[in-house]
Amino acid sequence: MNLSQLHVLVVGGATGGAATALLLARAGARVTVLEKVAQPRAVGAGIGLAENGLAVLESIGLGPAIAARGRAVDGLALVDADSRLLLAPPRPAPRMRMIRRSDLQGLLLDALAAEPRAERQFGAEVIGAERDGRVVARIDGRVVEHRADLVVGADGVHSQIRAAGEFGARVRPPGIAYLRALVDVEAAQGVEAWTGAGIFGSFAVGGGTYFYASAGARACRRAIAARDLEALRAVWARAYPPSIPLLAAVRRFDDLIFNRVTRVECRRWVDGRLVLLGDAAHAMAPNLGQGANSALVDAAVLLDELRRASDLATGLDAYQRRRRPAVRRVARAAGSMGALAEITNPVARWLRDRLLLPLAARLGGDATSIVMQEPPATLLAIGRA
Ligand SMILES: Cc1cc2nc3c(=O)[nH]c(=O)nc-3n(C[C@H](O)[C@H](O)[C@H](O)COP(=O)(O)OP(=O)(O)OC[C@H]3O[C@@H](n4cnc5c(N)ncnc54)[C@H](O)[C@@H]3O)c2cc1C
Repeated sequence: MNLSQLHVLVVGGATGGAATALLLARAGARVTVLEKVAQPRAVGAGIGLAENGLAVLESIGLGPAIAARGRAVDGLALVDADSRLLLAPPRPAPRMRMIRRSDLQGLLLDALAAEPRAERQFGAEVIGAERDGRVVARIDGRVVEHRADLVVGADGVHSQIRAAGEFGARVRPPGIAYLRALVDVEAAQGVEAWTGAGIFGSFAVGGGTYFYASAGARACRRAIAARDLEALRAVWARAYPPSIPLLAAVRRFDDLIFNRVTRVECRRWVDGRLVLLGDAAHAMAPNLGQGANSALVDAAVLLDELRRASDLATGLDAYQRRRRPAVRRVARAAGSMGALAEITNPVARWLRDRLLLPLAARLGGDATSIVMQEPPATLLAIGRA
C-alpha cells in the first residue's frame, strides 16, 4: 500500500504513539499526534529497553542517543533477599538498556519535531471517536473535530479509542501495585530481588538509580496509606537491606510513583478505521519488562503490514493477526511471573526458589523468543526499509 495517500491520527504521544508516528511519517504518511499532556517530557521514572524495543528505536535512528543516555544491563538476573542467584539470564543475554523515561520520551519527541510529515498537538485530549475515522478532541477548552483515514489508539491503559470502538475488551480489576522512583545516588544492584515483601529491582541510569518495588505486602500498604516514608523504608530495610540507600535518597513521599497493574485483553484490535496499539490494546504485568517494548514492536509491525497490504483493511487485519497471539503469550508469561514474584508464604517461596525456578531455567527453551515476539533483526529491517 502506498502510505503517502494516508492521513493518520495517532492518539497518545508516549512510547507507542511517538514511535508509530515517526515510523509512519517516514514511510510517507501524513501524521497528526494528539497528546493530552501539555508538556509530555516530564513524566515517569526509568524503563528497561529490551532487544526488540531497542531494534525498533535503532531503526528510526535513535540508537546512538539511546546508547549515550542509557546504561547496558548484562541480562536480568533474579536473586533472593540475600542476593543469592535464583535465575540467571539466558546466555548470550539479549541486549538491554535502562534509561530514564524522560530521556526516552525526549528523544522520541525531538525526532518527531524534526519530521516534516508529522504534526504534534500537545494539550489535546481526545474525548470521542467513530469507526469512520472521526475524532473529537478538547484543546484549550475548545472542542475540535478531526477526520483521518486511520486512527491509532496509543492512549494507554484507559484508552478513549478503545472505549469508542467495538474491541471486545476485557479490563481486569487492578492487581498488584508497584512503586517506582529515580534517585541521585549510585547504589543500583543491577538485579531484581524476590523477597518476602515482593520484588525490588534497582538499575543504574545515567547519573543515578532507577528502582521499583512491590507495594502489595500488608506492611507496605499500611505505610503507603499513611503516606509514611519512614515506615516504608523500614519495611524494605527488613525485607531487602540493599534498598536502604535507595529509599533513604527519596526526599519526599510524593517523589514515589505508584502504579496498579491493570491487564487489558482485546478480542479485536481493529474496528473500522480505529486500531489499538500498546497498553491500549494489551496492558500487561510489568514483570518481563515488555509493556513499552511490545508497544514499539506493535508500531513496527503495523508499518510492515500496512506497507505489504493492498488496502487499509487488509493491512490492519494482518497487523492484529500477527500481533495478538504473540502479545497474548508474553502477557500470560508476565502475569505468571508477577504472581510467582508476589508469593509471601515462606514455605511456598522456598519451593518456588529451590525447585520451580531451577526447573524453569532448565526447561526455559524458547523463553527468549516468546519475550522478543519478533526477531530483533526483522524489526530493525522494517524501520530501515
Ligand atoms: C512498575 C512498572 C514498570 C514498568 N517497567 C517497564 C519496563 O521496564 N519495560 C517496558 O517495556 N515496560 C515497562 N512498563 C510498562 C510500560 O510503562 C507501558 O507498557 C508503556 O508505557 C505503554 O506505552 P504506551 O505508549 O502504549 O502507553 P502510555 O505510556 O500509557 O502512553 C499513553 C499516552 O496517551 C496519552 N493519552 C491518554 N489518554 C489520552 C486522550 N484521551 N487523548 C490524548 N492523549 C491521551 C497519555 O497522556 C500518554 O502520553 C512498566 C510498567 C509499570 C507499571
